[in-house]
Amino acid sequence: MIKAADLVLPSVAALRPYEPGKPIEELEREEGAGDVVKLASNENPLGPSPMAIAAVRAALTEVNRYPDGACWALTRKIAARHQLGIDRIFVASGSVEVLNLLAFLFLRPGLNAVFSEHGFAIYALATAAAGGESRVIPMRPGYRFDLEGVAAAIDVNTRLVFLDNPNNPTGTIFRKEEWEGFLAKVPTPTVIVADEAYYEFVRDPDYPDSLNYHDPGRMVVTLRTFSKIFGLAGLRVGYAVARPDIVTLLHKVRQPFNVTSLAQVAAIAGLDDSAHVRQTLENNAAGLAFLESEFERLGIAYVPSHANFILAEVGDGLQVFNELLKLGVIVRPLGGYGLPRHLRISVGLDHENHRLVAALEQVLRARAKK
Ligand code: PMP
Repeated sequence: MIKAADLVLPSVAALRPYEPGKPIEELEREEGAGDVVKLASNENPLGPSPMAIAAVRAALTEVNRYPDGACWALTRKIAARHQLGIDRIFVASGSVEVLNLLAFLFLRPGLNAVFSEHGFAIYALATAAAGGESRVIPMRPGYRFDLEGVAAAIDVNTRLVFLDNPNNPTGTIFRKEEWEGFLAKVPTPTVIVADEAYYEFVRDPDYPDSLNYHDPGRMVVTLRTFSKIFGLAGLRVGYAVARPDIVTLLHKVRQPFNVTSLAQVAAIAGLDDSAHVRQTLENNAAGLAFLESEFERLGIAYVPSHANFILAEVGDGLQVFNELLKLGVIVRPLGGYGLPRHLRISVGLDHENHRLVAALEQVLRARAKK
């Protein structure tokens, strides 16, 4: 019998699908445990913006209608916020949709994408799905980006560079000086994707906002999402800021109704909910400080984070992950990211962070006795 896999690109047949964080309901089914704490997917622990919830409620009675395929109101709102023309904004079903569309547009067999080791998993998946080659550049000590190495790996067949700043899962950033040096070296036909999913959480004064580096001679694509600070991950909405010619191409290959009506109204409302954003940032800063001080107390090495999660070195990451599951705490093991000794822990609410620390302490104590 002919296998369907023989009819597709070998890079697609060889793909291992993205492994998402374990859903709470799945753990409850498996372990029968109630009161599960999920700190696995860098979600907003405060919940969605209350203003977004109200907007979704009001829009529910209209879901018999197709959404506005052009995202008219949301596109205008985002454009006004950044003081840019609407022809620079592309709204999508999460920033992951843009990553996939960019790979689909710009890559094919014989072409390549360059990105950093320990980078967001979708870069390799989107590249392979389009039949492109992934060029993965090792990080520097301390999980720092090697932007010089990234620039040096670019050749005539490179179409895309994917850089997430802050990086998921290390939580590290590159700074203005490195970024400007990198931009000066990248040949102009390369599309540089600055994936800023965690942009709002960064407090470092030398963090480069990639929106300040768009100019007509360069192809920088900035990605932002409503999944993190705005707490709308379940609705799937994000956007790209790019040159109008890139936005036009993205529109050609997207689904006609790629962003649901509920996602559109929620994003519009969420953008105005500055109280929710402020509370989220306060919770995150306090949570990160708590986790860091507790990791120090427990002698757990961690990587200082600029995002809403933190990388902790726990020994056998998969084992510790599994033992934490039994205690009702879901975090993220990172074998697939080349970090088998680490866990990525999202910042939760105060009581969730305490649950995590207590569970981790219990698991690591028990393991030390073995
Ligand atoms: N980029 C990075 C670096 C991320 O960590 C994530 C979320 N895990 C995304 C993009 C995807 O976000 P979205 O929900 O907008 O697709």
